[in-house]
Amino acid sequence: MTTYLSANQRSEAIQQLRATHFDLLVIGGGITGAGIAIDAATRGMRVALVEKNDFASGTSSKSTKLVHGGLRYLKQMEIQLVREVGTERAIVHHLAPHLVRAEKMLLPLIQGGTYGKTATSLGLMVYDLLAKVLPEDRRKMLNVEATKSAEPLLVRNDLTGGGLYAEYRTDDARLTMELIKTAAKHGALALNYIEATSFQYDQEGKVQGITAKDHLSEQTFSIAADYTVSAAGPWVDELRDINQSLQGKHLFHSKGVHIVVPHQRLPLQQSVYFDVPDGRMMFAIPRNRVTYLGTTDTEYKGDLDRVVANVEDVEYILKGVNSMFPTAHLTKDDVESSWAGLRPLIHEEGKSPSEMSRKDEIFEAENGLISIAGGKLTGYRKMAERIVDLVARKYRKQQQRSFGPCKTAETVLTGGPFEDQRAVFQFEDQLAEALDHRGLGHDHARYLVSNYGKQSQELLPSIDQHLSEHKPEEAMALAEWEHCIRHELCFTLLDFFNRRTGRLYFDLPSIDPCRRVIVQAFSNHFNWSPERQQAEELALDQAIQDCSEFLPLALASDTK
Ligand code: FAD
Repeated sequence: MTTYLSANQRSEAIQQLRATHFDLLVIGGGITGAGIAIDAATRGMRVALVEKNDFASGTSSKSTKLVHGGLRYLKQMEIQLVREVGTERAIVHHLAPHLVRAEKMLLPLIQGGTYGKTATSLGLMVYDLLAKVLPEDRRKMLNVEATKSAEPLLVRNDLTGGGLYAEYRTDDARLTMELIKTAAKHGALALNYIEATSFQYDQEGKVQGITAKDHLSEQTFSIAADYTVSAAGPWVDELRDINQSLQGKHLFHSKGVHIVVPHQRLPLQQSVYFDVPDGRMMFAIPRNRVTYLGTTDTEYKGDLDRVVANVEDVEYILKGVNSMFPTAHLTKDDVESSWAGLRPLIHEEGKSPSEMSRKDEIFEAENGLISIAGGKLTGYRKMAERIVDLVARKYRKQQQRSFGPCKTAETVLTGGPFEDQRAVFQFEDQLAEALDHRGLGHDHARYLVSNYGKQSQELLPSIDQHLSEHKPEEAMALAEWEHCIRHELCFTLLDFFNRRTGRLYFDLPSIDPCRRVIVQAFSNHFNWSPERQQAEELALDQAIQDCSEFLPLALASDTK
């Protein structure tokens, strides 16, 4: 079966999009759309997915990157949400343990903080039960000494103890990419840089597909489908508006910022979820050579296509971090990178952004457009199941066609299978040995396995080929680039440096040393004109500037 995941097959893929009448057309290549595509494809539907930019270029590369049970939703008594996402994280860990890794989270308790000792102990116990946490991973309550030994940077004298509980860390953009690839393996046709610009209707006014614009060739064409689902995240209301069905509930955009500092500037031993002075909570998460910190939660009314952190966001996070880790003395100069994303929340009158529910909601227009918004990265599989169940019910009722039940709890993602996390570590050790002969270290092995799982083995011959002419790190970047061109629909410098490899956020200094060879590789492969190459380089420079230089809010377009 052709998967059309190679960047070289784009014109054939577009021909297929134009020629096929699909059962289901998904608009949006974030985690929600990717989840729907895999669910529908594994049930036997003919599925197409179109993404106007790159896969995961919206909110799905800008989250805290936790596949988590949402402890704070317990405080808001959202029991059903905690139960659902809690159960889901165990399933997603099982489907891709290389990408969704178990990680303990430390909740320090301070006098007058959000959580008291007894309430925390009880809350974490309920959390473990709702999220069906395995006995060996259940919460541990710590006294002051044990809390300080778990994280020596916690030197506040109002510390009263801590709670250690189970969480999972991921890379949201990589998770989305592997879902897209798995969906394609099961027959879905997914393509980035294709925008739904309007809808197509039958004689009765029912949505029967879209008019699409290919942003790489500027061609416009139509895609026909029995059912169309919009999983456009923060853009859901834009599409409902184009479809003239924007009535009743609507979205509220809440901006969330994370900043990245070198690990040696905040050398945490482990992830911490802590109180900040205004009563909110924040995460500090060590990840390879950096620690990332966040987030904020403020109303956003600016440009949905370019969301950046402002000075005020950065200062707010730094203030929170410095108050919990008083010896850190972090300043703006320590911030190496950042990202800012929009939570597509369902508006609730009179509630602040932090108070609004993270539950997902489905909107069904009378003319047939189905939209889904809200929700969490963690709950993507269940959201998809609800949508595909809905479409399957419509098929049964309207066309007497039936599709089987949801299979995604057992559909292992590309990059696997791994029996469990131990098997991932074993694989990592083997790869590290193989990389050692090639001048690369264990950190590179961990990075490659987290990104590509077992697929990283396939990079070795390509690394060997490039070693004769390039330094080990350049050879590795070129091998990754080849993989991404062949198997991950990678078309631009930013696709590569941001969504495929995570370098823009997590290893900004690594871009410069390999930039020249990667630009050359793209340019040769796609025969870029000088203008195209210049535009690509400008877009990369702009993105680097956006994530590492911060303007005051008054000079930017969003409002708090
Ligand atoms: P998106 O990822 O935004 O995808 C929508 C896609 O639709 C975009 O790629 C966009 O380009 C595309 N699109 C829009 N219009 C069109 C069109 N006309 N044609 C074609 N394509 C179109 N959840 C967790 O579980 N764990 C966390 O730790 C977590 N942390 C978060 C922290 C922050 C700061 C934020 C903002 C969110 C966080 N979330 C977290 C929530 C989670 O990230 C989101 O729920 C999820 O990523 C939303 O995915 P989505 O696919 O619905 O939207």
